[in-house]
Amino acid sequence: MTTSIAENLLNIKQSLPTKITLVAVSKTKPLDKLQHAYDAGQRVFGENKVQELREKEPAMPKDVQWHMIGHMQSNKVKYIADYIDLIHGVESIKLLKEINKQALKHRRVIKVLLQFHIANETTKFGLQINEAMEILTSTEFQKLKNVQVAGVMGMASNTENKEQVLKEFQSLKSIFSTLKTTQFPSEDYFKEISMGMSGDYKIAIEAGSTMIRVGSSIFGKRNYV
Ligand SMILES: *Cc1c(COP(=O)(O)O)cnc(C)c1O
Repeated sequence: MTTSIAENLLNIKQSLPTKITLVAVSKTKPLDKLQHAYDAGQRVFGENKVQELREKEPAMPKDVQWHMIGHMQSNKVKYIADYIDLIHGVESIKLLKEINKQALKHRRVIKVLLQFHIANETTKFGLQINEAMEILTSTEFQKLKNVQVAGVMGMASNTENKEQVLKEFQSLKSIFSTLKTTQFPSEDYFKEISMGMSGDYKIAIEAGSTMIRVGSSIFGKRNYV
């Protein structure tokens, strides 16, 4: 017997410390599944393609908070700038500038997370800490008033080795702490550590995650990424 989306959500939520934000990753899933999750009380949804966001956002209730969790291309920011709540995968000053420009057009401040390369795999995107420091201390960045860096994001290696995964998540937590102390000491909005997916969110929480991105454990397996 398979469990329903509502049951899956309940099970996950009951196992979470209260302060953790659960992002329901609904990529590739049809609207009726998102609506089931919404009806069960879920409000934060994550998508990884701008095209899919453009189709789903108008069809869902207005109080949904949409998170862009995939690789973001600068030329597509304009399509989501009027409603996007948080963009997880930011890794360049060019993208930050474009987000700022589009946010300004809509008189908004858009929250973003800097993505770090923590995995032992070359395929995963992300910055190194020195690159992030370079961005954050640049005069270009300091001029951006409509983009707010709310924290960090990362993906661990896709491995059964739990110690390896824990180590990688701990490295992101440590990057967060360094940036917090050196760049955002009194900025309360810099507080998020987005790490953990269906297969590893419990380890991520152990390492200090504040936001987990869970797809298949809620909506069932996907046929493609
Ligand atoms: C797809 C995806 C997830 C969710 O993956 P699951 O294993 O289905 O929980 C989380 N984060 C990112 C960046 C993703 O692309």
